[in-house]
Amino acid sequence: MNRPISPVHLTCQLHPHFPLTHGCVKEDCQYDCLFCSECLIEQLDHLTQHRQFIQPLPKFLGEMGALLQKTRQLLRPLEPLGQQIQSAQQYFQNYVVQQKDSVNLSLKALCDEFFSLIESSRNRCFMAIDQQASQVSTLLEQKMKSTLTEDLLIVQDIPEFHSTLAGLAEDKKVEFIYQLKA
Ligand SMILES: [Zn+2]
Ligand SMILES: [Zn+2]
Repeated sequence: MNRPISPVHLTCQLHPHFPLTHGCVKEDCQYDCLFCSECLIEQLDHLTQHRQFIQPLPKFLGEMGALLQKTRQLLRPLEPLGQQIQSAQQYFQNYVVQQKDSVNLSLKALCDEFFSLIESSRNRCFMAIDQQASQVSTLLEQKMKSTLTEDLLIVQDIPEFHSTLAGLAEDKKVEFIYQLKA
C-alpha cells in the first residue's frame, strides 16, 4: 500500500539518520540549501548569512513549488521555439537520409557502368583472341596442306609409293592424300 511521502521523512544527505527540517530559499545561494537539525548546528556561516531566507521545510517546499511554476510560465513562450528546433532537426535528419540515398544511387550507377565497360572489354578481347586463333589455325592448315602436297610430289616419284597407296585404298586416312593429289 503506497502512502504519500511526508516531507518530514526526507533525510539529510550529510546526516542520513536525521530528517530534513529547513531549507534556504535565497535564489543565488551557493551553499547546500537543505538542513537537518545537525546541519543547523554545523553550518553556522550559512545560517548567519541567510538567516532571513532559511524556512521550515513545508514552507521551503511550497516556495520551491511556486518557483517551479513560475519557471514553467517563463518557459512557455519558448515552447514554439522548441517545436521549431525539433522540426528543423527532423528536416536535417531527412536531408541527411536523402543525401545518403542520392550517393548510393550515384555509386550504383557508376558501378553498373564500370562493370558494363569491363564486360564489353572482355567480349572485345575474347573476339580478338578467337579471330587470331582462327587466323593461326587457317595458316597452320594451309601450311600443312602445302607441306603434304610437297611431300606427296616427292614421294610419288618413289616406285614403292603407288603399291603402298593401293594397299591403303580402303583406309579413310588416305582420303585426304587423294584429295590433295586431285
Ligand atoms: Zn542559503
Ligand atoms: Zn544534515
